[in-house]
Amino acid sequence: MSTREKSNPLSVKCPICGKEVVWGPQSPYRPFCSERCRMIDLGEWASNAYRIEGKPGSADELDPGEAVPFDPRHPEQLKGN
Ligand SMILES: [Zn+2]
Repeated sequence: MSTREKSNPLSVKCPICGKEVVWGPQSPYRPFCSERCRMIDLGEWASNAYRIEGKPGSADELDPGEAVPFDPRHPEQLKGN
């Protein structure tokens, strides 16, 4: 049987709402499904009708007790051998 690599190589999903968008001249706002979604991505809609909650940078702070990076100078930290 003939198998295509992708079922829909000429379509993408709108990064805002997830709707499938045909990648072609009929979708002038691609990869967004509509002008509205494009506006949302640009932040124009957000500044007018929606406030993003949270404080700037708060999401970037990491707990120092977690996510310890692997130190290549100490390979004995790895299991095995
Ligand atoms: Zn959309």
